[in-house]
Amino acid sequence: MSNDTYENWHSRNELDIVKVLVSNTESGLERAEVEKRREKYGKNTLTVKKTISPLVRFLVQFHQALVYILLVAIGVKLYLGAYVDASVIFGVVLLNAIIGFAQESKALNALAALSQALLTTSTVLRSGEKQQINAKELVVGDIVLLQSGDKVPADIRLLSSRELQIDESALTGESTSVAKMEIPLKKETSLADRSNMLYSSTLVTYGMGTGIVVEIGDNTEIGHISKLLNNTQVLTTPLTRKISKFSHILLLVILGLATLTFLIGLWHGNSWESLFMASVALSVAMIPEGLPAVMTIILAIGVSRMSKQNTIIRHLPAVETLGSTTIICSDKTGTLTRNEMTVQELFTANENFEISGIGYIPDGEIRQLNNKCEVSKKPTLLELLKAGLLCNDSMLKGSEKSWTIEGDPTEGALLVSAKKAYIDFDLLYTQMPRVDTIPFESQYQYMATLHFDKKMNQHIVYLKGSVESVLERCSTYLDINGNPVPIINEEIHIQVQSMAKKGLRVLAFAKLITQSNIQSLSHDNVAHGLEFIGLQGMIDPPREEAIRSIEACKTAGIQVKMITGDHVITATAIATKMGLIQSVMKNEETVAITGKELEVLNKDELIQASKSASVFARVTPEQKLRIVEALQADGEIVAMTGDGVNDAPAVRKANIGIAMGITGTEVAKEAADMVLTDDNFASIEAAVEEGRGVLDNIIKFLGFILATNFGEGLVIIVAILVNETLPILPVQALWINMTASIFLGLTLAFEPREPGLMQKQPRLPSLPLLNGEMIFRIFLVGLMLLGGSFGLFELALNRGASLEEARTIAVNVFAVGESFYLLNSRSLRFSIFKLGIFTNMWIWGGVLAMITASIALTYLPIMNQMFHTAPIGLNDWLHIFGVGLIIYSVVSIEKIIRQRLKH
Ligand code: ADP
Ligand code: MG
Repeated sequence: MSNDTYENWHSRNELDIVKVLVSNTESGLERAEVEKRREKYGKNTLTVKKTISPLVRFLVQFHQALVYILLVAIGVKLYLGAYVDASVIFGVVLLNAIIGFAQESKALNALAALSQALLTTSTVLRSGEKQQINAKELVVGDIVLLQSGDKVPADIRLLSSRELQIDESALTGESTSVAKMEIPLKKETSLADRSNMLYSSTLVTYGMGTGIVVEIGDNTEIGHISKLLNNTQVLTTPLTRKISKFSHILLLVILGLATLTFLIGLWHGNSWESLFMASVALSVAMIPEGLPAVMTIILAIGVSRMSKQNTIIRHLPAVETLGSTTIICSDKTGTLTRNEMTVQELFTANENFEISGIGYIPDGEIRQLNNKCEVSKKPTLLELLKAGLLCNDSMLKGSEKSWTIEGDPTEGALLVSAKKAYIDFDLLYTQMPRVDTIPFESQYQYMATLHFDKKMNQHIVYLKGSVESVLERCSTYLDINGNPVPIINEEIHIQVQSMAKKGLRVLAFAKLITQSNIQSLSHDNVAHGLEFIGLQGMIDPPREEAIRSIEACKTAGIQVKMITGDHVITATAIATKMGLIQSVMKNEETVAITGKELEVLNKDELIQASKSASVFARVTPEQKLRIVEALQADGEIVAMTGDGVNDAPAVRKANIGIAMGITGTEVAKEAADMVLTDDNFASIEAAVEEGRGVLDNIIKFLGFILATNFGEGLVIIVAILVNETLPILPVQALWINMTASIFLGLTLAFEPREPGLMQKQPRLPSLPLLNGEMIFRIFLVGLMLLGGSFGLFELALNRGASLEEARTIAVNVFAVGESFYLLNSRSLRFSIFKLGIFTNMWIWGGVLAMITASIALTYLPIMNQMFHTAPIGLNDWLHIFGVGLIIYSVVSIEKIIRQRLKH
């Protein structure tokens, strides 16, 4: 909007603002008007400003130890007048930087695209209807409804509110929530004190409110703060840091070795120029340049693979932590189960009823002892169904066969059961309009609504929630005729248990006819004196794929624990059905525990209980946090799901915080490391498997690149030790290194997950990256490369070949030997035949590129000139391939022996 009004939203009164913005608080904007405004002012999106310019990122590519060594080498070459060599080295350095830059850009773009993939939805009032829309579609003047858990989608002036609290840390860095209210303020009130304004990207942590959008996109306050805008993905992770440190140590070792060879050469009486070049060659050959960069690329590929399997990674380190996860704590409703609720049993006044039908189609009937029941003749039953309809924020939509619900499925099921009793929704809504609401929050476990009963001319509160929370408020219950009589809690508990044992989720209902004419509802208003109406029990079928995933986790050494707000018996019944617990009460160990029972445990007992229990029922968000902490104290790597506002601390504390993409609040998503776009437990398991694959690929890459670098280094060291001419020149070493890592090593990043990943135990992050087995293999391959290269070099010289020819042979031993070893490196355990020869086509593309490059190096005159090579004969190639085959066979046999030894 225009600048003169911009500052004043907080000091104008509400009516004035609505008038200025030409909106309507009752019905919101009309559809056509929305279109017009979007045309004029654009979408509600922030322009991403990049802090690091591409040029800087390109220049950073040169900031590598290897490059500095090469620059010195270029200087020396120029000094010696070897201009061709100098320019070739320079060319290679440049090419390396370009390729590094391109790869990094690709990884960054992939990650940036993902952070965009997370949609923020927003509830607006348009054309008189409440709608859920993508926050990008908001326009100025839209009336937005906010409640705890939401992200504020634009700059908004409050119009009405109720105990609204906002976490403004995205804007101010201050993480304590601030209270907001719609009262107009003085014009000079500073930005931070404008308590009637809500700012884009801040989070609603409590209460609810309605407001009007006054600024969108870049015009919002967050839009003004440009430094916050680049959603810079942190590209370092514990693993990449570990590798950086490793590279640095390796660098020092290599430089030490280079100096040592230099000194030994001098002692042998060689010229300093040739020795300097030998030291450079050694450094070039051995420094695993760009190792951390390749790690990042492998992680980024993991991220994009996971996104195809319904998980969005918000923090890169999560990818590797996933691979080490030892415990998954999962929500029950919606994650392990389908969250498709259908009421099957009803209980009122000592009478039990059954309801037939499945899903949300309101086809079915209410039966009592297998006979159809006349609901109209049962006042208390009718009251139970009415309570379910009125104390409800969801909507039942559809006709004929396609019925859907909008809102919470638990509530949707209540609408369906009311519909099956032919209750006239519209009639009831007009007869008993709602005056106020206490929304459901899992820590209170109930929801209450205040209605004005026009017929009786009195106010009535309906309350529904967990049996515990409802019963503690009731002193009477309604008998068959709808008259209140003293309550006997035990009888109700027996009913609850019998429903819960079948795995039904049980909701209890109560009402209160208020004496005074109250207009608003607080928790105190419904603290006691309510009349108990009855129970509705609903099924929520388990997700079949989740059952399979639980099984997979078991073989993978990962414990799965169910964390739920639901009743302990319901939770246990479902957990048993899903294979989470073998059979209840088999031994003395706790398999299921409630939040209340957890509360009284001391630290050690809590750890013990958290370890042994598979079901945690009636758990509050604070208790979730305590469970995570207890498990972590015991050394576990914990993944924890969450969806509510109050779950954020537990989600943040977990090693892997997982938020629900569909049912989760924005607050939970902000706190999470990863978001499940389908809310499905099976996606967590798939992500764990992918994470293990990523860790595997990193190790495979390390094993590949270190073996080849080691081999090259050995060739040069041995040459100097035995005082022989260098079989590989610096430019050639450079050539081998570059082609090997770009054409060959990198293709391992695309290696698909190998079979049996979930048959291993989780890999502890504290373990060294390379185990003894891997180090042995690096030595083995390094030595074979040395033997092949040095051997064929000597052989060629002995039979009278030129130095250039002999060197070309030595270089090609690496090209071919590495290609063969690449095939070995595809799996840590299996042969390429077991994996499927063509399951990673990148490998073959890489090998083909490598062969083409080698032919060019050997036969193109210009390459001969630049790299001091010469054409070689067919016989030489046969020898070279022989070396490759030997390497491949020896490593294959080594793998087989190891597998045999393990079994
Ligand atoms: P979960 O998501 O783990 O199943 P919740 O915290 O959602 O657990 O629910 C806990 C209990 O609160 C349920 O067993 C039910 O009795 C009650 N409950 C759930 N949803 C609602 C709701 N919308 N209104 C009232 N009570 C509810
Ligand atoms: Mg829930």
